[in-house]
Amino acid sequence: MMSPGTITTQRWICESCGMIYDPAEGDPDGGIVPGTAFEDIPDHWVCPACGTRKADFYTSTGPAEPAALAKESEPRPPEPGPRRRAPRA
Ligand SMILES: [Zn+2]
Repeated sequence: MMSPGTITTQRWICESCGMIYDPAEGDPDGGIVPGTAFEDIPDHWVCPACGTRKADFYTSTGPAEPAALAKESEPRPPEPGPRRRAPRA
């Protein structure tokens, strides 16, 4: 039914200072009204905290999870090479 808040909002993080841009909050001081998707922010917008360009923000979603899980040591498969006996003369 009515379920506000289920909008998938992507948060963007300032590369320089770590400020998080939340589309739900926008950046009123920077002229960005709440509900503005990061993509809709004008390119001349800069981080309100440190002045970093919009291009230097990165999104927190994606497969960029901690490498702890992916760092699994794979066991080596046994070598299937047949044992050859060197022919003795
Ligand atoms: Zn910043």
